[in-house]
Amino acid sequence: MKIPKPLIDLIESRKQKEISSNICENCDSHCCTGPGFAIYENIKIIYDKYQTGVLIRESLVFKRGLTFEQFIYEYFDRVAFQNGSFIAFFPKTISDRGELISVPPWNYYESRKYLQSRDGRHGCIFLKKNFSVNQNDNGCLLHHNQNTDEISAKPIDCLFLQCSPNKQQIKPTSAESSLWFSLLDFHFPDSLKKFNEEHPSMTN
Ligand code: SF4
Ligand code: SF4
Repeated sequence: MKIPKPLIDLIESRKQKEISSNICENCDSHCCTGPGFAIYENIKIIYDKYQTGVLIRESLVFKRGLTFEQFIYEYFDRVAFQNGSFIAFFPKTISDRGELISVPPWNYYESRKYLQSRDGRHGCIFLKKNFSVNQNDNGCLLHHNQNTDEISAKPIDCLFLQCSPNKQQIKPTSAESSLWFSLLDFHFPDSLKKFNEEHPSMTN
C-alpha cells in the first residue's frame, strides 16, 4: 500500500535540501530515544515481521508466540488523538534497568519525557541495541528501503522526523504537527473504531 501523496508531500517539504540520503547511517540514532508512532497499518506489518523471528535486539529478547493483541499490549503504548478518532501506537522504550517503560495515554509526550528522565533511556525497543551516545551502529530493526513510498514496518511517524545536515532534529511547527495528524486521520479514517472493532478485547 502506497503512503498517500499528501503525507509524502508533507514529509518531503520538511526535508532539508542539502541533506544526504544516508545521513542516518552514521548517526547514534538519538532521535530513537523518544520513538515516533506507528499507525494500525504499520502495526500489522510489524507483527508479521515479529512472527518470522527477524526482530532480534541485543539486550532484549522479544517474547515468542504472542498473539497480535499480546504483542501490541507488550510492546506498544496506545494513544488516541483527533478527538478519539485516530489511534497511534508508540513503541515502548527500555529503562536503565532493562525494563520496558509503559507510558499512560494522558498527556502522552509529557508523561513519556518525565518517565524517561526518571528511569533512563535505552531507546526504542526496535533499535538493534541499547542506545548509547556516539555509538553509530544502533540502527532500526524495522528499516525498509522503500519506506518513503510504501506503508511498511517502519512507523510512519518516524518518517516525519527530519534532521538538519548536522543531525539536529528539526522540531515540526505546530501547524505542521496539526496538518500531520489531520492528514493521517483523513487518509486512515476511524482507525481507533476499526481497531476496537477488530480487537474488542483491547478496547480501553
Ligand atoms: S533522523 Fe537524525 S537523529 Fe535520527 S538517525 Fe537520522 S540523522 Fe540521526
Ligand atoms: S521504530 Fe525505528 S526509527 Fe522509529 S524510533 Fe524505533 S528504532 Fe527509531
